[in-house]
Amino acid sequence: MADETVFAKILRKAIPCDFIYEDDKCVAFKDMNPQAPSHFLVIPRKPIPQLSKAEDSDAEILGHLMVVARKVAAEQGLENGFRVVVNDGSDGGQEVFHLHLHVMGGRKMDWPPG
Ligand code: AMP
Repeated sequence: MADETVFAKILRKAIPCDFIYEDDKCVAFKDMNPQAPSHFLVIPRKPIPQLSKAEDSDAEILGHLMVVARKVAAEQGLENGFRVVVNDGSDGGQEVFHLHLHVMGGRKMDWPPG
């Protein structure tokens, strides 16, 4: 498991992590380095490394991640809105190669992003 990602370790509970949401397809937890007052990640249990490596047959799980992002954002009190980000690959600034949605809120977001 030399190339196992930190998120794979979280999923198999080798690294402790408090889930704020979980179901049979995905989990959500707070980002350890928050970029907004509220910043959590939604990750699939399936180890899809990045969005550009997802397959057409992943359409259901990709949609499910968005639905969960919406539900957890509401639970976290982000009634004024929030931002969803998926970093893909080196140009996208991706560091952990296990697909994840960043959900950030609790302040006004800048545009364009850096
Ligand atoms: P990305 O650059 O899109 O791959 O984002 C990876 C994110 O994972 C970063 O925002 C990190 O702060 C976050 N992260 C890495 N390890 C952990 C961890 N053990 N628990 C929570 N968040 C993490």
